[in-house]
This record gives sequence, structure tokens and C-alpha cells, in this order.
Amino acid sequence: MEKGVVIDSRHTAEKEGQGLVARALTVDYGEGPVLGPLDLDLPERGIYTVLGPSGSGKSTLLRAAAGLLPDFGGSLSYGGRPIGSAGVAGADIRIGLVPQNYGLLPWQTAIANVRTALKIARPDESRARRGAAALRWLALTGLSGLEGRYPRALSGGQQQRVAIARAFAIRPDLLLLDEPFSALDAVTREDLQRLLLESWRQQPSTMLFVTHDVEEAILLGRKIVMLTAAAGPPVLIDNEAVFSLADEDKRDHDAFHEQTRHIRRIMRERR
Ligand code: ADP
Ligand code: MG
Repeated sequence: MEKGVVIDSRHTAEKEGQGLVARALTVDYGEGPVLGPLDLDLPERGIYTVLGPSGSGKSTLLRAAAGLLPDFGGSLSYGGRPIGSAGVAGADIRIGLVPQNYGLLPWQTAIANVRTALKIARPDESRARRGAAALRWLALTGLSGLEGRYPRALSGGQQQRVAIARAFAIRPDLLLLDEPFSALDAVTREDLQRLLLESWRQQPSTMLFVTHDVEEAILLGRKIVMLTAAAGPPVLIDNEAVFSLADEDKRDHDAFHEQTRHIRRIMRERR
């Protein structure tokens, strides 16, 4: 299924491993700190889940990483390059964001939303190739037949899937997903969790995946960044024991249940 997708060759050895790095990152919207101080070292080509209750700063962290916050304390970098209010310094790093409200252009159809993003992110690719990628990702996210619909004629879950298709289609180096499966029914959600892991294995990017669902955080993340209700340092949880299992074995494995208990215990303690 990945035929026709060019694997990026822009990664260089010196960039390997640096990934997303935060040092003493703090955010204050003007009424006191809502995030941090945060220190993170998330090596390239890993899936990291961000878990925390409502208001713990998950969306704020993603906005900072996307370069959408005009101001924050401390530093944030990707691949050794600072992230500022205009994204990553240097234009050859692509960042994809699936915001919590989907962020679709209401005046464009589903396929036009994906094509427009591709045109911006991959201007050198041919129109035909971009069009094929848009169709393919809409099909993979279960939206075949709905390509010509405007967002207002799609359900919340369908709009959310257009946003996911769009983010995957542009094949960003750093993919930021803000509760991307929250509007989906359980079966569709499991399908898309599988699609996410499969497409990541075929072309590993760096992903920061926000969720408030403990199971989802454990099923998807190599590491889990736990934020707590009051601003303060995060708890970083190694999840390699579950991450390295085959997808179909995860839910039934002892390591999964042990991790679930571990995280619930921390949540109770840090409430
Ligand atoms: P989460 O995504 O974990 O629910 P957010 O990052 O959205 O949390 O919000 C963290 C805190 O920052 C909340 O208390 C929220 O009210 C506040 N906040 C978020 N965005 C803004 C903003 N633009 N202006 C002021 N306060 C904000
Ligand atoms: Mg949020």
C-alpha cells in the first residue's frame, strides 16, 4: 500500500536521535503558569503519548511544539533547531498538527482540504501524485465516497478523520496529534490506532500524541509523558515493554495490565 510514497532522504546522521527537546519549558497565558517547567528528550522516530487530565496543558504543549505560541519560557527544539513562533528555524522540517477542533477549512471539500495541505507541504510533487495521495489517505481512514463533502456535511468523527488523513498525507517529520480519535466510536478508533502504528512502522516519524485515555496512551506510546492538573514537572514513563509487543497481543498481555495499574496509581497520587 505504500507504493508510490517517497521515503524522505533529508534526514542526516547528525540529526538522528535529537528529536524534540524541551528545557525548562513554561507557558503562561497571563494568569499564572499552565505548563512546566518541563524537560523532555524525545528522540526522533518515536511515538510519544501525552496523558493528563483536562486543563493540564496538553494542547498548550502541542501548540508550543507546532510553533504556534507567540511566547514561552525556556527552550524547545527539534532536530537541534530552535522552535519559535514561526515553527522550526530552517524550512526543511515539516510539522503536521491535528488540532483538537480538527482545523478543517469549511469552504473546501474533504479532498480539497487534503490537497491544499499537500500543495503547501509538498509543492514539488505533481498534482496527480498529490491527488492520488489525498484519495488514498481518505480511503485508509474510511472516507471513500465522502471525498466531495464539505465539513458541515460530515459528522464530527468523519471531520476528525479528514484531519487525520490530511496530517498523514503530508508525511511530516514531526506529527502532533491532539486527541485525534476522541470523536470516534470504539471500533473505528481501534482501526485508526492500528493504521497509525502500521504507517508509523513503514515510515517512522516523530509523533506526539495527546490523549486523556490511559489505555490509548499505553497502546500507542513508546514513552508516556504524564502531565498533572497543577503545573509542575511531568512524569515520564518508559513503555517499551508494551510498545515492542505485536499490536494484536498488547491488550491481553501482562505488561499492558501492569502498566495500566502503574499509571492509575500515579494518577491517584498526583491528583
Ligand atoms: P488540556 O489540553 O490539557 O485540556 P490546555 O492546554 O488546553 O489543557 O489548557 C491548559 C490551561 O491553560 C487551562 O487552564 C486553560 O484554561 C488555559 N488556557 C489554554 N489556552 C488559553 C488561552 N489562549 N488563554 C488563556 N488561558 C488558556
Ligand atoms: Mg486539550
